[in-house]
Amino acid sequence: MVAEMRIRLDEFPRFRLLDGPTPVQRLVRLEQRLGPATGGARLWVKRDDVMGVGGGGNKLRKLEFLIGEAVAQGCDTFITTGGLQSNHARQSAAAAARAGLACELMLSDVVPRHDQAYRTNGNLLLDDLFGATVHRLPGDVNALDAARARADEIGREGRKAYVVGSGGSSPLGCLGYAVCAAEILEEEQVAGRRFEAIVVPNGSAGTHAGLAAGLSAAGDDPRRILSFTVLAPLDKALEETRRLASQALNLIAPDCSLAEDAIRIDGSQRGDAYGLPTDAMVDALRIMARTEGLLLDPVYSGKAFAGVLAGMRTGAWRDRDVLFVMTGGVPGLFAYRDAIASGG
Ligand SMILES: *Cc1c(COP(=O)(O)O)cnc(C)c1O
Repeated sequence: MVAEMRIRLDEFPRFRLLDGPTPVQRLVRLEQRLGPATGGARLWVKRDDVMGVGGGGNKLRKLEFLIGEAVAQGCDTFITTGGLQSNHARQSAAAAARAGLACELMLSDVVPRHDQAYRTNGNLLLDDLFGATVHRLPGDVNALDAARARADEIGREGRKAYVVGSGGSSPLGCLGYAVCAAEILEEEQVAGRRFEAIVVPNGSAGTHAGLAAGLSAAGDDPRRILSFTVLAPLDKALEETRRLASQALNLIAPDCSLAEDAIRIDGSQRGDAYGLPTDAMVDALRIMARTEGLLLDPVYSGKAFAGVLAGMRTGAWRDRDVLFVMTGGVPGLFAYRDAIASGG
Protein backbone atom coordinates (compact mmCIF):
# COMPACT_ATOMS: atom_id res chain seq x y z
CA MET A 1 0.00 0.00 0.00
CA VAL A 2 2.75 2.43 1.00
CA ALA A 3 4.75 1.66 -2.14
CA GLU A 4 1.66 2.21 -4.30
CA MET A 5 1.10 5.68 -2.84
CA ARG A 6 4.73 6.59 -3.52
CA ILE A 7 4.20 5.87 -7.22
CA ARG A 8 1.32 8.37 -7.40
CA LEU A 9 3.38 10.99 -5.58
CA ASP A 10 6.21 10.47 -8.05
CA GLU A 11 3.98 11.79 -10.83
CA PHE A 12 4.41 15.34 -9.53
CA PRO A 13 7.52 17.42 -10.27
CA ARG A 14 9.60 17.82 -7.14
CA PHE A 15 12.54 20.02 -6.19
CA ARG A 16 14.42 18.19 -3.44
CA LEU A 17 14.98 20.13 -0.23
CA LEU A 18 15.14 17.25 2.29
CA ASP A 19 17.93 14.69 2.52
CA GLY A 20 15.59 11.79 3.23
CA PRO A 21 13.18 10.76 6.00
CA THR A 22 13.46 12.88 9.16
CA PRO A 23 14.47 11.08 12.39
CA VAL A 24 12.00 9.69 14.94
CA GLN A 25 13.23 9.86 18.54
CA ARG A 26 11.82 8.88 21.93
CA LEU A 27 11.71 11.47 24.75
CA VAL A 28 12.57 9.20 27.69
CA ARG A 29 13.64 11.94 30.09
CA LEU A 30 10.42 13.86 29.52
CA GLU A 31 8.35 10.68 30.06
CA GLN A 32 10.14 10.18 33.39
CA ARG A 33 9.65 13.80 34.37
CA LEU A 34 5.88 13.55 33.74
CA GLY A 35 5.77 10.50 36.01
CA PRO A 36 3.08 7.87 36.68
CA ALA A 37 0.15 10.11 35.62
CA THR A 38 0.91 9.24 31.98
CA GLY A 39 0.07 5.57 32.63
CA GLY A 40 3.26 4.49 30.87
CA ALA A 41 2.57 6.37 27.61
CA ARG A 42 5.61 6.49 25.33
CA LEU A 43 6.29 9.88 23.71
CA TRP A 44 8.08 10.15 20.38
CA VAL A 45 8.96 13.10 18.14
CA LYS A 46 9.42 13.21 14.37
CA ARG A 47 12.11 15.79 13.75
CA ASP A 48 10.72 17.89 10.91
CA ASP A 49 12.69 20.73 12.51
CA VAL A 50 15.91 19.02 11.38
CA MET A 51 16.43 19.75 7.70
CA GLY A 52 19.38 21.01 5.71
CA VAL A 53 18.00 24.15 4.03
CA GLY A 54 16.98 27.54 5.41
CA GLY A 55 16.82 26.53 9.08
CA GLY A 56 14.36 23.72 8.27
CA GLY A 57 10.72 23.25 9.20
CA ASN A 58 7.47 21.84 7.88
CA LYS A 59 7.11 24.25 4.93
CA LEU A 60 10.11 22.72 3.16
CA ARG A 61 8.11 19.53 2.56
CA LYS A 62 5.38 21.55 0.82
CA LEU A 63 7.95 23.65 -1.03
CA GLU A 64 9.43 20.51 -2.64
CA PHE A 65 6.20 20.27 -4.63
CA LEU A 66 5.51 24.00 -5.00
CA ILE A 67 9.01 24.94 -6.21
CA GLY A 68 8.93 21.76 -8.31
CA GLU A 69 5.82 23.03 -10.09
CA ALA A 70 7.20 26.59 -10.40
CA VAL A 71 10.37 25.28 -12.09
CA ALA A 72 8.36 22.92 -14.34
CA GLN A 73 6.23 25.88 -15.45
CA GLY A 74 9.34 27.91 -16.33
CA CYS A 75 8.80 30.54 -13.63
CA ASP A 76 11.66 32.80 -12.54
CA THR A 77 10.02 34.27 -9.43
CA PHE A 78 8.30 32.71 -6.39
CA ILE A 79 5.73 34.87 -4.57
CA THR A 80 3.98 33.98 -1.33
CA THR A 81 2.15 35.56 1.62
CA GLY A 82 2.20 35.38 5.41
CA GLY A 83 2.45 37.30 8.66
CA LEU A 84 5.55 39.38 9.44
CA GLN A 85 7.11 36.44 11.32
CA SER A 86 6.05 33.79 8.80
CA ASN A 87 8.22 30.66 8.92
CA HIS A 88 6.74 29.72 5.56
CA ALA A 89 7.96 32.99 4.02
CA ARG A 90 11.49 32.43 5.39
CA GLN A 91 11.63 28.83 4.13
CA SER A 92 10.26 29.97 0.75
CA ALA A 93 13.02 32.58 0.51
CA ALA A 94 15.67 29.93 1.22
CA ALA A 95 14.16 27.32 -1.10
CA ALA A 96 13.78 29.87 -3.93
CA ALA A 97 17.43 30.89 -3.51
CA ARG A 98 18.45 27.26 -3.76
CA ALA A 99 16.37 26.80 -6.92
CA GLY A 100 17.74 29.98 -8.51
CA LEU A 101 14.38 31.79 -8.38
CA ALA A 102 13.77 35.35 -7.22
CA CYS A 103 11.49 35.53 -4.18
CA GLU A 104 8.95 38.20 -3.22
CA LEU A 105 7.10 38.06 0.09
CA MET A 106 3.80 39.85 0.83
CA LEU A 107 3.87 40.06 4.63
CA SER A 108 0.81 41.31 6.52
CA ASP A 109 0.80 43.06 9.85
CA VAL A 110 -1.77 40.74 11.45
CA VAL A 111 -0.42 40.07 14.96
CA PRO A 112 -0.73 42.93 17.48
CA ARG A 113 2.91 42.84 18.62
CA HIS A 114 4.77 46.09 18.26
CA ASP A 115 8.15 45.55 19.92
CA GLN A 116 11.33 45.85 17.92
CA ALA A 117 12.21 42.14 18.13
CA TYR A 118 8.89 41.15 16.53
CA ARG A 119 9.12 43.78 13.80
CA THR A 120 12.77 43.33 12.79
CA ASN A 121 14.34 40.13 14.11
CA GLY A 122 13.72 36.37 13.74
CA ASN A 123 12.28 35.35 10.39
CA LEU A 124 12.40 38.91 8.99
CA LEU A 125 16.18 39.05 9.46
CA LEU A 126 16.50 35.74 7.61
CA ASP A 127 14.14 36.77 4.75
CA ASP A 128 16.56 39.62 4.10
CA LEU A 129 19.61 37.37 4.38
CA PHE A 130 18.12 34.94 1.83
CA GLY A 131 17.76 37.87 -0.57
CA ALA A 132 13.95 38.02 -0.72
CA THR A 133 12.11 41.25 -1.54
CA VAL A 134 9.75 41.98 1.35
CA HIS A 135 6.53 43.98 0.83
CA ARG A 136 4.94 44.93 4.15
CA LEU A 137 1.15 45.21 4.00
CA PRO A 138 -1.35 46.53 6.54
CA GLY A 139 -3.36 43.77 8.26
CA ASP A 140 -6.59 44.61 6.40
CA VAL A 141 -5.21 44.28 2.86
CA ASN A 142 -5.84 40.95 1.08
CA ALA A 143 -2.27 39.67 0.70
CA LEU A 144 -3.13 37.03 -1.89
CA ASP A 145 -4.75 39.66 -4.13
CA ALA A 146 -1.63 41.81 -3.70
CA ALA A 147 0.54 38.80 -4.61
CA ARG A 148 -1.50 38.15 -7.77
CA ALA A 149 -1.33 41.82 -8.77
CA ARG A 150 2.45 41.75 -8.32
CA ALA A 151 2.64 38.55 -10.44
CA ASP A 152 0.72 40.34 -13.23
CA GLU A 153 3.16 43.23 -13.04
CA ILE A 154 6.10 40.80 -13.30
CA GLY A 155 4.36 39.14 -16.26
CA ARG A 156 4.12 42.47 -18.07
CA GLU A 157 7.92 42.77 -17.72
CA GLY A 158 8.24 39.52 -19.67
CA ARG A 159 9.06 37.41 -16.61
CA LYS A 160 6.93 34.70 -14.98
CA ALA A 161 5.90 34.40 -11.34
CA TYR A 162 4.47 31.47 -9.35
CA VAL A 163 2.02 32.44 -6.57
CA VAL A 164 0.99 30.41 -3.55
CA GLY A 165 -0.90 31.61 -0.46
CA SER A 166 -0.06 31.51 3.24
CA GLY A 167 1.58 28.40 4.61
CA GLY A 168 1.97 26.96 1.10
CA SER A 169 -1.26 25.10 1.81
CA SER A 170 -2.53 24.55 -1.71
CA PRO A 171 -3.69 20.97 -2.42
CA LEU A 172 -0.36 20.43 -4.21
CA GLY A 173 1.63 21.78 -1.24
CA CYS A 174 -0.20 19.36 1.06
CA LEU A 175 1.40 16.46 -0.81
CA GLY A 176 4.58 17.21 1.14
CA TYR A 177 2.79 15.85 4.19
CA ALA A 178 1.41 12.87 2.29
CA VAL A 179 5.11 12.02 1.85
CA CYS A 180 5.56 12.44 5.60
CA ALA A 181 2.64 10.05 6.20
CA ALA A 182 4.39 7.46 4.02
CA GLU A 183 7.58 7.93 6.09
CA ILE A 184 5.66 7.38 9.32
CA LEU A 185 4.00 4.20 8.00
CA GLU A 186 7.36 2.90 6.82
CA GLU A 187 8.96 3.66 10.18
CA GLU A 188 6.14 1.90 12.02
CA GLN A 189 6.54 -1.16 9.83
CA VAL A 190 10.31 -1.34 10.36
CA ALA A 191 10.09 -0.76 14.13
CA GLY A 192 7.03 -2.99 14.65
CA ARG A 193 5.21 -0.20 16.46
CA ARG A 194 1.94 1.65 15.86
CA PHE A 195 1.31 5.19 17.04
CA GLU A 196 -2.04 5.60 18.77
CA ALA A 197 -1.94 9.32 17.98
CA ILE A 198 0.04 11.50 15.56
CA VAL A 199 -0.09 15.08 16.85
CA VAL A 200 0.60 18.27 14.84
CA PRO A 201 -0.06 22.01 15.09
CA ASN A 202 -2.72 23.38 12.70
CA GLY A 203 -2.16 26.83 11.17
CA SER A 204 -3.03 26.97 7.47
CA ALA A 205 -4.18 23.32 7.77
CA GLY A 206 -1.89 21.85 5.12
CA THR A 207 0.19 19.73 7.50
CA HIS A 208 -2.83 17.97 8.99
CA ALA A 209 -4.61 17.75 5.61
CA GLY A 210 -1.57 16.27 3.85
CA LEU A 211 -1.04 13.65 6.57
CA ALA A 212 -4.75 12.76 6.44
CA ALA A 213 -4.63 12.41 2.66
CA GLY A 214 -1.49 10.29 2.87
CA LEU A 215 -2.86 7.90 5.50
CA SER A 216 -6.20 7.63 3.65
CA ALA A 217 -4.48 6.89 0.33
CA ALA A 218 -2.50 4.11 2.02
CA GLY A 219 -5.65 2.57 3.49
CA ASP A 220 -4.67 3.61 7.01
CA ASP A 221 -6.76 5.52 9.56
CA PRO A 222 -6.57 9.36 9.37
CA ARG A 223 -8.42 9.61 12.70
CA ARG A 224 -5.09 8.79 14.35
CA ILE A 225 -4.05 12.37 13.54
CA LEU A 226 -4.90 15.02 16.13
CA SER A 227 -4.13 18.67 15.47
CA PHE A 228 -4.27 21.68 17.74
CA THR A 229 -5.52 24.77 15.96
CA VAL A 230 -3.44 27.88 16.61
CA LEU A 231 -4.97 30.14 13.95
CA ALA A 232 -8.59 29.57 12.92
CA PRO A 233 -11.35 28.98 15.49
CA LEU A 234 -12.22 25.27 15.77
CA ASP A 235 -15.20 25.13 13.37
CA LYS A 236 -13.37 27.00 10.62
CA ALA A 237 -10.24 24.89 11.11
CA LEU A 238 -12.30 21.70 10.75
CA GLU A 239 -13.97 22.92 7.58
CA GLU A 240 -10.72 24.09 5.97
CA THR A 241 -8.75 20.97 6.93
CA ARG A 242 -11.49 18.67 5.58
CA ARG A 243 -11.66 20.62 2.32
CA LEU A 244 -7.88 20.58 1.80
CA ALA A 245 -7.52 16.92 2.80
CA SER A 246 -10.09 15.77 0.25
CA GLN A 247 -8.55 17.94 -2.49
CA ALA A 248 -5.07 16.54 -1.73
CA LEU A 249 -6.45 12.98 -1.61
CA ASN A 250 -8.07 13.58 -4.99
CA LEU A 251 -4.63 14.38 -6.45
CA ILE A 252 -2.93 11.19 -5.26
CA ALA A 253 -5.81 8.69 -5.05
CA PRO A 254 -8.84 9.88 -7.07
CA ASP A 255 -10.70 6.64 -6.28
CA CYS A 256 -10.48 7.21 -2.52
CA SER A 257 -12.74 9.49 -0.55
CA LEU A 258 -12.14 11.02 2.84
CA ALA A 259 -14.12 9.45 5.70
CA GLU A 260 -16.80 11.73 7.19
CA ASP A 261 -15.13 11.74 10.63
CA ALA A 262 -11.53 11.68 9.34
CA ILE A 263 -10.44 15.05 10.76
CA ARG A 264 -9.94 15.53 14.53
CA ILE A 265 -8.93 18.97 15.81
CA ASP A 266 -8.62 20.34 19.35
CA GLY A 267 -9.29 24.04 19.98
CA SER A 268 -8.10 24.25 23.58
CA GLN A 269 -4.58 25.65 23.07
CA ARG A 270 -5.19 28.54 20.66
CA GLY A 271 -5.48 31.19 23.38
CA ASP A 272 -6.79 34.67 22.54
CA ALA A 273 -5.64 34.71 18.92
CA TYR A 274 -3.04 33.63 16.40
CA GLY A 275 0.46 34.66 17.42
CA LEU A 276 -0.46 35.71 20.96
CA PRO A 277 1.47 33.81 23.65
CA THR A 278 -0.22 31.59 26.27
CA ASP A 279 1.19 30.51 29.64
CA ALA A 280 0.87 26.84 28.62
CA MET A 281 2.96 27.55 25.49
CA VAL A 282 5.77 29.15 27.51
CA ASP A 283 5.70 26.19 29.96
CA ALA A 284 5.88 23.74 27.04
CA LEU A 285 8.89 25.55 25.52
CA ARG A 286 10.71 25.48 28.86
CA ILE A 287 10.00 21.86 29.79
CA MET A 288 11.07 20.63 26.32
CA ALA A 289 14.25 22.75 26.37
CA ARG A 290 15.18 21.86 29.95
CA THR A 291 14.48 18.11 29.93
CA GLU A 292 15.36 17.22 26.33
CA GLY A 293 17.45 20.12 24.97
CA LEU A 294 14.98 20.55 22.10
CA LEU A 295 13.43 23.75 20.74
CA LEU A 296 9.76 24.37 20.06
CA ASP A 297 8.43 27.63 18.56
CA PRO A 298 6.11 30.17 20.24
CA VAL A 299 3.35 30.33 17.59
CA TYR A 300 2.69 26.73 16.48
CA SER A 301 4.59 23.81 17.99
CA GLY A 302 4.74 25.34 21.50
CA LYS A 303 0.94 25.59 21.67
CA ALA A 304 0.41 22.13 20.17
CA PHE A 305 2.96 20.54 22.48
CA ALA A 306 1.20 22.18 25.44
CA GLY A 307 -1.77 20.09 24.30
CA VAL A 308 0.38 16.94 24.20
CA LEU A 309 1.62 17.61 27.75
CA ALA A 310 -1.97 18.09 28.96
CA GLY A 311 -2.94 14.74 27.38
CA MET A 312 0.08 12.97 28.87
CA ARG A 313 -0.67 14.37 32.34
CA THR A 314 -4.26 13.11 32.26
CA GLY A 315 -3.35 9.60 31.07
CA ALA A 316 -4.99 10.01 27.64
CA TRP A 317 -2.50 7.60 26.02
CA ARG A 318 -2.00 5.00 28.78
CA ASP A 319 0.42 2.26 27.62
CA ARG A 320 0.39 3.65 24.07
CA ASP A 321 2.89 5.29 21.70
CA VAL A 322 2.27 8.93 20.76
CA LEU A 323 4.10 10.76 17.97
CA PHE A 324 4.47 14.55 17.98
CA VAL A 325 5.66 16.07 14.70
CA MET A 326 8.14 18.86 15.50
CA THR A 327 7.51 21.42 12.77
CA GLY A 328 10.40 23.87 13.32
CA GLY A 329 9.98 27.63 13.67
CA VAL A 330 13.00 28.26 15.89
CA PRO A 331 13.70 31.74 14.39
CA GLY A 332 10.35 32.82 15.84
CA LEU A 333 11.85 32.51 19.33
CA PHE A 334 13.97 35.59 18.66
CA ALA A 335 10.88 37.59 17.72
CA TYR A 336 9.16 36.68 21.01
CA ARG A 337 11.96 37.54 23.43
CA ASP A 338 9.64 39.50 25.77
CA ALA A 339 7.21 36.60 26.11
CA ILE A 340 9.79 33.87 26.65
CA ALA A 341 12.78 35.22 28.57
CA SER A 342 12.69 34.48 32.29
CA GLY A 343 13.48 37.65 34.21
CA GLY A 344 13.91 40.00 31.19
C1 LIG B 1 3.30 26.83 9.42
C2 LIG B 1 3.71 26.12 10.66
C3 LIG B 1 2.88 25.15 11.25
C4 LIG B 1 1.49 24.87 10.77
O1 LIG B 1 1.45 24.16 9.59
P1 LIG B 1 0.19 24.35 8.62
O2 LIG B 1 0.46 23.42 7.52
O3 LIG B 1 0.19 25.79 8.21
O4 LIG B 1 -1.03 24.01 9.40
C5 LIG B 1 3.35 24.47 12.35
N1 LIG B 1 4.56 24.75 12.88
C6 LIG B 1 5.37 25.68 12.36
C7 LIG B 1 6.67 25.94 13.03
C8 LIG B 1 4.98 26.40 11.22
O5 LIG B 1 5.80 27.32 10.72
